[in-house]
Amino acid sequence: MSRSAHPAGPRHADVLPEGHYTAPATDLNELDAKVWSRTVTRDADGALTVGGIEVARLAEEFGTPAYFLDEADFRSRCRAWADAFGPDADVFYAGKAFLSRAVVRWLEEEGLNLDVCSGGELTTALAAGMPAERIAFHGNNKTVAEIERAVEAGVGRIVLDSFQEIARVSHIAQALGTRQRVQIRVTVGVEAHTHEFIATAHEDQKFGIALADGQAAEAVRRALTLDGLELIGIHSHIGSQIFDMAGFEVSARRVVQLLAEIRDEHGIELPEIDLGGGLGIAYTSEDDPREPHEIAKALGDIVTRECEAAGLATPRISVEPGRAIVGPTAFTLYEVGTIKPLEGLRTYVSVDGGMSDNIRTALYDAEYSVALVSRSSDAAPMLVRVVGKHCESGDIVVKDAFLPSDLAPGDLIAVPATGAYCRSMASNYNHALRPPVVAVRDGEARVIVRRETEEDLLRLDVG
Ligand SMILES: *Cc1c(COP(=O)(O)O)cnc(C)c1O
Repeated sequence: MSRSAHPAGPRHADVLPEGHYTAPATDLNELDAKVWSRTVTRDADGALTVGGIEVARLAEEFGTPAYFLDEADFRSRCRAWADAFGPDADVFYAGKAFLSRAVVRWLEEEGLNLDVCSGGELTTALAAGMPAERIAFHGNNKTVAEIERAVEAGVGRIVLDSFQEIARVSHIAQALGTRQRVQIRVTVGVEAHTHEFIATAHEDQKFGIALADGQAAEAVRRALTLDGLELIGIHSHIGSQIFDMAGFEVSARRVVQLLAEIRDEHGIELPEIDLGGGLGIAYTSEDDPREPHEIAKALGDIVTRECEAAGLATPRISVEPGRAIVGPTAFTLYEVGTIKPLEGLRTYVSVDGGMSDNIRTALYDAEYSVALVSRSSDAAPMLVRVVGKHCESGDIVVKDAFLPSDLAPGDLIAVPATGAYCRSMASNYNHALRPPVVAVRDGEARVIVRRETEEDLLRLDVG
């Protein structure tokens, strides 16, 4: 049941049938390697360390709440994706998952490309020195000013999202005396989420141009006639937090069919296809994500097979993982404040952050794990709901989890797998100060995005 179905009803707390949540068989002190970043471990005293630094020291130096990003893990995930796809494919990191200048430099050094979808993301990418030709520009409503900046900067591709944009980008490129490399984003009638995918005849969403009714074919026809555009390929992105490759299979098949139709009609074979991002990660021990090499093999096999069947040369493939690279590399560290046991229900554990630093639980009913990290504990498990300090009962960070029953105010708890779509979606609700992102590597920690200050709040509020 979705919480949004009963925003303030009497069953607000989603009371579960008795016995529904039984204490986990596993030791609460254990840190599942699937959900924690690679250098996370507990030291001899039972405290969590990342990059060799204990959380108590991090909390003292940087405060809480804060995101701690494991740089070695981030870089190794970049390399795993680049190696898995090899020199004949391109990996674009989806910047909207989390973007900062330090991250752009790591991507640049590790040989990845970068997706941006706003002027702000483009500015950050260019400011950090990402070569423009390695940037792809996305979005369903790019402004004229944004398109002009992207074309002027010389981005490697703009992904066209509508008929109007086809004309608009061509016009701008011509006015600037250039020809812009573009892809056309199509909606293939597949929407994928987590463990399932749904194939629908017609798309009812704002992105892309439908394959249905010959719309994508018409978009290709128009793009090929315009002098400002160099059409290099077709793009498809089917959803996010996907574990099942079946949705990608349908998507790849339909995109290759379109390539075959384009060859038949225009006598050209477009050289590239982009299959988007959306690969799932483990938020809890229940999730079983695939490794990049499995994903690369599965996608490569599908495209090769479909192209052989259609008599096409295999195009260059791009993928756009965001969450799958940065998601697992960070955790959010909180200090426990109020603890409120509700007899027969659960214990509410309030932390010093909340929906302002992680909106995903409220927005998507997302699931997270949580652990006591400033110490280990042998106390019996208790069922908890980790909530924030905001004026909203939907302000939930972790809906249902177990923590040791000797949990006390002042303890540090951490929520893993918060690298993607947490800081990037953070808000100032209740005039919260958005937390810093601290990169940790080889015994050193440095702020890459600083904490907001009350001065920042007053600077924006011009009085
Ligand atoms: C959001 C997005 C991605 C990245 O999605 P993840 O779930 O983070 O992998 C890739 N491509 C496009 C076009 C997107 O909109």
